[in-house]
Amino acid sequence: MSRQLIAGPSLLAEATMQGDNCTSGAIWGSVPYRTFQRKKTIFTNVLPVAVAHAWFALSCFKRVLPRSQQSDNMKSLLFQYNNTIFFSVRFTYEVSPVFILMEEVLLRKMQSIVGWSSGEGDGIFCPGGTISNLYSILVARYHFYPEVKTRGMGVLPQLGIFTSEHSHYSVKKSAAVLGLGTENVVVVKCDERGKMIPAELESSIVTAQEKGLVPFYVNATAGTTVYGAFDPLDAIADICHRHSLWMHVDAAWGGGLLMSDRHRMKLQGIERAWSVTWNPHKMMGVPLQCSAILGLLRQCNELGAEYLFQADKHYDVSYDTGDKSIQCGRHVDAFKLWLMWKAKGSQGFGAQVDKCLENAEYLYDQLQRRTGFELVYKNKPEHSNVCFWYTPPSLRGLPLGPDRDTRLHQVAPQIKGRMMEKGSVLIGYQPLGAKVNFFRCVFSNPATQQEDIDFLLDEIIRLGHDL
Ligand SMILES: *Cc1c(COP(=O)(O)O)cnc(C)c1O
Repeated sequence: MSRQLIAGPSLLAEATMQGDNCTSGAIWGSVPYRTFQRKKTIFTNVLPVAVAHAWFALSCFKRVLPRSQQSDNMKSLLFQYNNTIFFSVRFTYEVSPVFILMEEVLLRKMQSIVGWSSGEGDGIFCPGGTISNLYSILVARYHFYPEVKTRGMGVLPQLGIFTSEHSHYSVKKSAAVLGLGTENVVVVKCDERGKMIPAELESSIVTAQEKGLVPFYVNATAGTTVYGAFDPLDAIADICHRHSLWMHVDAAWGGGLLMSDRHRMKLQGIERAWSVTWNPHKMMGVPLQCSAILGLLRQCNELGAEYLFQADKHYDVSYDTGDKSIQCGRHVDAFKLWLMWKAKGSQGFGAQVDKCLENAEYLYDQLQRRTGFELVYKNKPEHSNVCFWYTPPSLRGLPLGPDRDTRLHQVAPQIKGRMMEKGSVLIGYQPLGAKVNFFRCVFSNPATQQEDIDFLLDEIIRLGHDL
């Protein structure tokens, strides 16, 4: 496959995801993945790093890495190693033909999974979801006000951005970076479950206009970072359409669910977005960093530096895709995803997602069954996030109120401290609005088994019952 790719852009059509449904036997040139598995030395040497990667990838529950997952992580780790060591430059087709084509093929594949027809929208791999979200605002602003590129913010009205209270902080950060100002980010209310309330969005837009803001961009979140909630995308798309606003979907965390036949309907309406952030380095388990912004406009960042992007090259310069980026040289983040896709296939990714969500449901069931645990929101999890409190016996008789809240607030940090000292398990906690510290368990390692989840709950009781 890679040899064909080197031959030139005309072969792009052949470079489709042919290995799409293969579930084993990765293709790396003509060397099957099994060959790598035999190289035991590589495995022994990289194993400790693989474990470290699994722990740091997300603040999620990874007690021990069961053996089966080690080989799985090993694939991605090997990709990461090669990626980092050998391939770190790519802005024009002439210096990186294969990787440019791989990136293009992947972007098209991801766009078709989102539900866009071919040729609809451009895209690029970015250093993380934060930067992908930044690109989305950048391109939206350029779409409505192309003069901003040359004349700056001074010629623009006071622009308003809309995002939910549960959305990722990168939206506000991007507003600061882009000179829009965090105060011009209007935070829209969510329901109990953490989903943006469409009626609140509509009224926020109207109120903002009355105050002199010019709304231009709405960020909807598909899979919020804390609750794993999915905003009602269709209803939000209707509102964006009515008010002629750019609709972005931040599916950094929830995008992985598009790979699962069982769960992709939770992102119903994503195809109506103008741009989408999708992080394969989260739910799909690709090593950091691997994030795509879909829906980019080439002209937005293009500057045509003459030492790189000459228009009179002897090949089709539309393949000099580096000018879409705000960077010059870039990491080859697409390569890891390409190889993992070849190894697992779409079905493999889908199965991985299904397994993580099954684990979340199992935890949800167990929390309801066991005494001392309470869910932060009552509904079944939509993603793999499960948020809960543990109430030690000493607090159980206390009446609800500030006194009990103050004490409950201290429970999760203390248990976590004990966990870290013991080194048995690692799980995140946090407060949210008026809610005191709760545990947030996020599954993104499909090798986690029900017995690991039982262990987690037993361990919380062991470490916290005397508090
Ligand atoms: C993690 C996350 C981001 C940020 O992604 P990074 O790759 O960590 O920069 C953005 N949005 C959501 C919803 C996220 O969960």
